[in-house]
Amino acid sequence: MRQTPLLKSVLELLKKKGGPCSVPDLQLQLSNLGLEPNKTSLYRLLEKLVAKGEIETVLLDNRTVYYELKREHHHHFVCESCETIQCLEDESLETRIHALEDNLAAQGLKIKAHQFSFTGQCAACQ
Ligand SMILES: [Zn+2]
Ligand SMILES: [Zn+2]
Ligand SMILES: [Zn+2]
Repeated sequence: MRQTPLLKSVLELLKKKGGPCSVPDLQLQLSNLGLEPNKTSLYRLLEKLVAKGEIETVLLDNRTVYYELKREHHHHFVCESCETIQCLEDESLETRIHALEDNLAAQGLKIKAHQFSFTGQCAACQ
């Protein structure tokens, strides 16, 4: 993959964000850097990065697709008021979910993945 200024900036922005970022959000930040990619080429770039395993899509609601630098499996908290997203990692939660997945497998269900997120109000918005 060619290291275009756009590619470099997208990866840097996602790294700086340290969490999921929506496409409109990315576009806004790119334009602050003087980059004005059209939506199609930005989506194409993001899809390539997903295919390469550098970033992944995060589905937090049914309206918006977020992109995040690929890292260890985790969940998210979304503030309904300011739409701030926090990454949540909890090993004991994963241990319990995996135990549940084993139970489901014993019942004949083939589990491939799980995903869920928490919604509510962040400390600042309460
Ligand atoms: Zn908030
Ligand atoms: Zn995250
Ligand atoms: Zn999990």
